Amino acid sequence: MTSVKKPPAACLIGWPAAHSRSPLIHHYWLRTLGIAGGYVIEAVPPDEFKDFVFRLSLRGFVGANVTLPHKEQALALSKPDARARAVGAANTLWYEGGELRSTNTDIEGFINNLDACAPGWDRAEDALVLGAGGASRAVVFGLIERGIKRVHLANRTLDRARALADQFGASVHPVAWDAVADVLPRAGLLVNTTSLGMHGQPALKIDLALLPPHAVVADLVYVPLETPLLAAARGRGLQVADGLGMLLHQAVRGFELWFGQRPQVTPELRALVEADLKKV
Ligand code: NAP
Repeated sequence: MTSVKKPPAACLIGWPAAHSRSPLIHHYWLRTLGIAGGYVIEAVPPDEFKDFVFRLSLRGFVGANVTLPHKEQALALSKPDARARAVGAANTLWYEGGELRSTNTDIEGFINNLDACAPGWDRAEDALVLGAGGASRAVVFGLIERGIKRVHLANRTLDRARALADQFGASVHPVAWDAVADVLPRAGLLVNTTSLGMHGQPALKIDLALLPPHAVVADLVYVPLETPLLAAARGRGLQVADGLGMLLHQAVRGFELWFGQRPQVTPELRALVEADLKKV
């Protein structure tokens, strides 16, 4: 009897199983690299997550992406790398020597997108990061790792910015939300990690005229693709990095870990996902 080996497959585990662009991204890479493999969405409620992860390989998966509300539980149930530990949340699971490992790819997604969109951005000595939630932790970690001298961290709830500064050390400086304008003139990089500007959320009100002329502006929000912040930055002739670029770049490492080839973020892939976002 000949046994037929099933092609490797990964999944996205979330609850509820919201519409995600990840299958579009991974199917594009599988197709263009000629790899027989799969990527599916798995809706798993919180009380079933532990069991699902323990049986991940028995279910035929070589790994997974993890999204809300499971990212902290994924960290606890696996052997995390330094990045997942620093962020306090894992978004990618894979097997290494039979052991379930985890990482957080938002850090490299953010940094690699900046490198692609605004080479030289890291000449900035001062960065201003807006927001102190989960995504902000990845951004702040990435900026410190890259050697940015001062990361000014402004958040509506100042205590959350303070807690993050306590964790990440002396290069992070908490800033009150109403003091943002004081920091803008020396910010070589401005990053929005809040949900402001997102479809259905209030706009982010900030006077970009105060930024220096060489500043780079990044927004993590990607629905809409062109946020009012990015539109205003482009209007001032500043370099920008958008949230879709980060989303695409953060997907690279998971694919490589599961399927063994490092994929490229191509203009064709971007156009494919952009078209899907326009359906929103
Ligand atoms: P989160 O943990 O819920 O944090 C939300 C942040 O937004 C907090 O700092 C919160 O401030 C702030 N905020 C919310 N409403 C606000 C308001 N009305 N005024 C001022 N600040 C407000 O969310 P997250 O996971 O960090 O995600 C944040 C954004 O990043 C979302 O839009 C998400 O889609 C996006 N994101 C994009 C990518 C990508 O690949 N492009 C990856 C991850 C996240 P308080 O602390 O005061 O509540």
